[in-house]
Amino acid sequence: MTGLNLNRAEFIRSAAAPKQFLRSSLPKVAFAGRSNVGKSSVINRLVNRRQFAKVGATPGKTIHVNYFDIDGKLWLVDLPGYGFAKVSQEERDRWAKLMESFFAEDGTFDAGVLIVDARHKPTADDVRMAEYFKRSGRAFVVLANKLDKLKKSEIDPAMALIRETLRLTEGTELIPFSAEKGDGREDLLGWLLRLL
Ligand code: GDP
Repeated sequence: MTGLNLNRAEFIRSAAAPKQFLRSSLPKVAFAGRSNVGKSSVINRLVNRRQFAKVGATPGKTIHVNYFDIDGKLWLVDLPGYGFAKVSQEERDRWAKLMESFFAEDGTFDAGVLIVDARHKPTADDVRMAEYFKRSGRAFVVLANKLDKLKKSEIDPAMALIRETLRLTEGTELIPFSAEKGDGREDLLGWLLRLL
């Protein structure tokens, strides 16, 4: 008994502009991360479906917010990826405007999941996104994805570097995660269940 049937997951709608943001009385969990960090793969792993959130979608075509209903109990809000080197200034501006509204408006989300790459020092964009979540005052968790690419001995120093770079307080959970292998899924699920 998990209390959340992840097999009951459905795409609801995309929002390309702030006026299309959806409101709901259900807890809304925003997933954020750099393009290519594996955000779609993390979501697919969570709901155990290969093609649920798309993997490797073309950058620039993904500047919208995707809403998914999970078991009629929680909404997963997939934010557009950031930090892709090859997008135009126009696309960057569109991303920034959409995200500024998302974080400034009331009722757009209740909690956050920030996904970073376990192998690398978080980027300046990752640090900025962590600041967005901190300033929002909502609970958020950080996933260090692609854990399977690290050697055992590299894990602790990598987690320490992420904690330090994102300046996470002790109360903020950092979950080593592998969308590929499934590590961390139960921890993420546990964290989500506490929001219900
Ligand atoms: P997104 O742009 O953040 O949605 O990233 P995707 O989910 O499309 O993943 C980007 C690439 O990273 C794909 O080639 C995935 O197969 C790969 N990837 C995602 N998660 C993992 C992981 O945990 N381990 C490994 N080794 N590769 C991963």
